Amino acid sequence: MSMETEAGVFCRNYHTHTQWCNHGTIDAEETICEAISLGMQELGFSEHAPFPDNRFGRMAFSELINYIGQVRLLQKKYAPYIKIFAGLEIEYFEDDLPYYHQLYRDYGVDYLILGQHYFKDQNSGCYVKTKRIEDEKTIAKYFDSLIYAAQSGLFPMIAHPDYCFGCDLVYTHITEQAICKFLSSISSVNTVLEINANGFRKPTFLSKIGERRKYPADLFWKYVKEYGLWGMIGSDCHHRGQLYDLAVRQAFYFAVEKGIMLKDSIHIGARH
Ligand SMILES: [Zn+2]
Ligand SMILES: [Zn+2]
Repeated sequence: MSMETEAGVFCRNYHTHTQWCNHGTIDAEETICEAISLGMQELGFSEHAPFPDNRFGRMAFSELINYIGQVRLLQKKYAPYIKIFAGLEIEYFEDDLPYYHQLYRDYGVDYLILGQHYFKDQNSGCYVKTKRIEDEKTIAKYFDSLIYAAQSGLFPMIAHPDYCFGCDLVYTHITEQAICKFLSSISSVNTVLEINANGFRKPTFLSKIGERRKYPADLFWKYVKEYGLWGMIGSDCHHRGQLYDLAVRQAFYFAVEKGIMLKDSIHIGARH
């Protein structure tokens, strides 16, 4: 796609939250109207997916059918103006493999984006909260979890793949090797790495190496460029005003500055 940053080139967004997730504040219909007024062609909703055991305290599993049903109604209502999709943002755990297939097959979701806010430590079997990582060995485990997720073929987009860089560490070859192992493993997988605009909305912090954003992380995207992999802008908006805001434009500038090639659409529909 063009590397221009005008509103006209931001035609599709697949990372959208609304009232269905506990921290989204507005009505989905308002976001659709905003997207239409921006001239967008596609808008995908991607609420945080529940698991059947409601393990992370987000949209209740019992609400899932209602969420998809409501998106389908809006899809029909606005079909003449914009394409609407019912997606979900979800973590990947190998033990839950049948559930992801069930989401595509039985619940009819249009796509799943990987949002690895938690991953499972293979040694302890415990969930690790990605933004609470405190050492580089755990960062390597996080990237390993992304490899398993990507190779499952379930996820056309990996949201904020650099979500682990919120921790205040001085990164060494351990992290660089983990990044490279991940990037080389996904070169043949049909997925795209998201440059997450929400990272530009969050305050910077004073880290051991100076003031910086938590993500997008320069170190990570330097390697994405080296590996020649695709990026994609995701608004990760939590209200209508964020759908195309300064942060989204900053994400475009970031891509231009780092020389990242951008895709503007993802594979929609069931995965193998
Ligand atoms: Zn997320
Ligand atoms: Zn999100």
